[in-house]
Parts: sequence; structure tokens; C-alpha cells
Amino acid sequence: MPPLSNLAVRDIETVLHPYTNLDTHRTIGPIVFERGEGVFLYDSNGKEYIEGLAGLWCTSLGYGNEELVEAAAEQMRRLPFSHMFAGKSHDPGIALAEKLKEIAPCEISKVFFVSSGSEANDTQVKLAWYFNNALGRPNKKKIISRLRGYHGVTVASASLTGLPYNHIDFDLPISNILHTDCPHPYRGMEAGETEEDFATRMADSLDALIQKEGPDTVAAFIAEPVMGAGGVIIPPKTYYEKVKAVLDKYDVLFIDDEVICGFGRLGTMFGAQTMGMQPDTVSVAKALSSAYQPIGAVMVPERMYQAMIDESKKLGTFGHGYTYSGHPVAAAVAVKTLEIYEREDIVGKVNAISPTFQSRLKALGEHPLVGEARGLGMIGALELVADKDTRRAFDPKAGVGAKVTAFAEAEGLIVRALGGDIIALCPPLVISEDEIGELFDRLGRALDKAEAFVSAQNLR
Ligand code: PMP
Repeated sequence: MPPLSNLAVRDIETVLHPYTNLDTHRTIGPIVFERGEGVFLYDSNGKEYIEGLAGLWCTSLGYGNEELVEAAAEQMRRLPFSHMFAGKSHDPGIALAEKLKEIAPCEISKVFFVSSGSEANDTQVKLAWYFNNALGRPNKKKIISRLRGYHGVTVASASLTGLPYNHIDFDLPISNILHTDCPHPYRGMEAGETEEDFATRMADSLDALIQKEGPDTVAAFIAEPVMGAGGVIIPPKTYYEKVKAVLDKYDVLFIDDEVICGFGRLGTMFGAQTMGMQPDTVSVAKALSSAYQPIGAVMVPERMYQAMIDESKKLGTFGHGYTYSGHPVAAAVAVKTLEIYEREDIVGKVNAISPTFQSRLKALGEHPLVGEARGLGMIGALELVADKDTRRAFDPKAGVGAKVTAFAEAEGLIVRALGGDIIALCPPLVISEDEIGELFDRLGRALDKAEAFVSAQNLR
């Protein structure tokens, strides 16, 4: 291993890294990035990487977008901060709320601003509770999410997240949060079952959980259209229509977490439209500003808003809000981002390039390490397996996914290994056909090196 740079040493001495192996980081150290341009990042040694995950599924317009830089600078000069508490407002916040209301995937009335996906989903939990208190249903408080769903890491949103490493040792989930089955066809479908049968089984299982808990105790169900961090999991056909029928039967709110799928990723403005979801309320973040500023939003339907007005009369205020709810610089950048998506027809662009992306992705399904290559629009994943026929996974301790990401980095490609040795891809939406080709060439070489490593180490 080459000696650590001065920056790397300073990092190791000072930074507690999110989602990092704290033990190995002390010797491996960080990759320190210095700048970005388009879909490329450059580290402190000048090495070039294709950003295959758009940062953390978020930099949809890539790096170096001067219009976004200008929008931020202009707003910073004019009004760098103003809040929205106690009825205060500002024009970028109003313009952003108007735009979100116009493009939302369901009928909405008001927009509540936050700074992240976790804050959006924490707010969703609190609003579901507030709403049911307003309706005089104090027992209707449980929120159901799905195993392997990802909704954030704050106390409530980490509880919604259905992944063991977000719960174990953090004393989570909190009470009133339940998890139903993960609709993962590759791992969950039984022999002889069709996608529709599998969807029926998943919806029946949700129905049974609500029955067991008592429908009067269940407030909401939350789902990502396509699960991202849980493994890029695409539910079977008819899943959402069957789930929706169950939710309607028991008057359970449907929360759509569009933090990854929102703003064109699946080939429609919102993932709900591609997947045929009919939500009541929506969380967005990440690509809302192409990640140039931290901002998210919760979209609130009229019936919730009306009930909230009545409830807030009791204490004279709606007691929820962040200092940075609707930060004007973040809002100005988000307004500009949405303007660019519209002007550049980002949805049309995704539909134009995704066939190339998906066909190169699916071709890697033939690789000896890959059990399934799956994807939709401009998101995809490779699920690595020790045995393609039986779908047997590698021993997690062997770290085969991490090995692929390390080989990919050496090839100049950033991808992410998710739990279960799943390699996720979610490049900036501005990627060109040639860059897609280059991305998969680099990934193919990384997989070949990983295969050689697996064979040499007898990891099967
Ligand atoms: N929801 C989804 C679907 C996400 O993918 C994420 C982040 N990966 C979050 C919520 C949490 O967002 P944040 O990290 O901005 O808090």
C-alpha cells in the first residue's frame, strides 16, 4: 500500500466517518476528492473517477453546474438566511413550494421544508401522529415500513429503515414502528410463483400484519418506489395496486419516499408514476437540488392540512420546524435545479439513455460473480453470488462486494457495495452514452479482478 498522504493522516486523526468501517479506516485512510466536472471526480493525486453512484444517489446534474453555483451566490448576496417560523417567508421558498405542488405525483396542498431525507421522514412520522391526534384517534399511531427499506438515520427514520446495522447497538427501532416483508423477487419469489402471485402474497402479509396489530392502531405505511440502499429492489408487477387496496381498507396513510427515485431517476418525474403508486404524501430530498445544497420536503395533502389547522389551535402553534426549514439559499438552488430539469427535459433524457445503461448492466448478468443484474431507468444493481444456480450468497465476512468496489476504484470508478454483496449503480442523469460505455468497461474489469481474487482465495 502506498504511504498515506498528509491529508489522509489528518483525516484519520480527526474525522469520525459516517457509514465507514472505523477499524480498517485507521490504516486504509480516505480517498480525498478535490474537484468534480460532469460525471467525473478527481482526487488529491489527480486520479480521475466516474461517479457511478451520483455521490449518494443525489448529484443528478453532475459536477460543475455553473447555473446552480450562480443561483446560490446570487441568493447568498441578497438574503443568505431567513427562516419560516412564526409566519415568516421568502420568495425562493414560496417559488419552490409552488413548483413542487405543481409537479407532485399526487394531489397535495402544502409543502414543509427540511434539510435531508431523514428529516423528511422523521417529519412524516410526526405528521402521521399529529394528524391522528387531530382526528381524535390517539391509538392510530403505528407506522409500517419494509424490511430492507431505507428511510434515513435519525431516531424515527432509522427505525423505519429496515436494515440490521441501523438498529443493532443503537437500541432501535422505537416503539410503534413495524416492518413488513421485502418484495424482493430474486430472493423472495417461490418456485412456480408468478410476479403477480408474489405481489398478492406480499399484500396479504401486509394485510395480516395490520389485522394482527389492529387496524385502529395503524397510521401509515411508507415505501420507496424502488428500494435503493436496501439493494436496488424492484417490487413485482401489481405490488403497489395490491398494497394500496389494503391501505385503503384500513384507512392507513400511504407515504411515498421519493428521496432516491424522485426527479427523473426511473424515467418519470417521480418513481410513483413509473411504479403505479398512489400515495397520500411524499418525501423528497437529494436530487431536489442535485445535492448542491442540503434540502428536502414533505408534501402534505389537504385533508391532513385541514386537520392540522384544528389541532394547532389548541396550543396556538404547530410545534415542529428546523432552523433550516426552507433555507433560502438551498431553496433558490432547488428552484434552479427544477428549472433545469424541465428545460433540459431530464425525463426525456433518462428515457433516451436508459436503454443503453440497462442493456450494458444486464450483460453483466452473465459474469460468473453475478447472480442477478437488475435495474430500471438510471438505477441498477448487481447481486453477487457464490453459486449462480442455487443463488447462494458469499459469506458476508469475505467482503466480496467491498473487494469489487476497491477494484473499481483502482479502475477509476466509484460504485457502492450494499449489504448482501450488492453493487449499486446510480450515475448522474447527465451521463452520456460514451460515458456509460466507459463506466461499464471499468466495472467489467473490476469484476474480472474480483473473480480472480475469489478463485485464488477459494471464497466459494
Ligand atoms: N430515504 C431514502 C429513500 C434514502 O435513500 C435516503 C438516503 N440514502 C434517505 C431517505 C435519508 O436521506 P438523508 O441521508 O439525506 O438523511
